[in-house]
Amino acid sequence: MRYDLKLNCINCGHSVALDENVYMDYEGPVKCNACSAILSVRMEDGKLRFMDFVSVSRPSPEDSLPRR
Ligand SMILES: [Zn+2]
Repeated sequence: MRYDLKLNCINCGHSVALDENVYMDYEGPVKCNACSAILSVRMEDGKLRFMDFVSVSRPSPEDSLPRR
């Protein structure tokens, strides 16, 4: 039996796939592969009960600008 449930990253909207054994019962951080955001999720009985945004580590474009 497969579970095709996917989460959508609340930072970039990219779908985040979880391991199948995670779908049924899981509480903890999940990393988005697209934007490296860390999401805190809670799964119960294969359904998403809770999702929150923890952190994101994306490069800041302002830091790479040359300074005069
Ligand atoms: Zn993302």
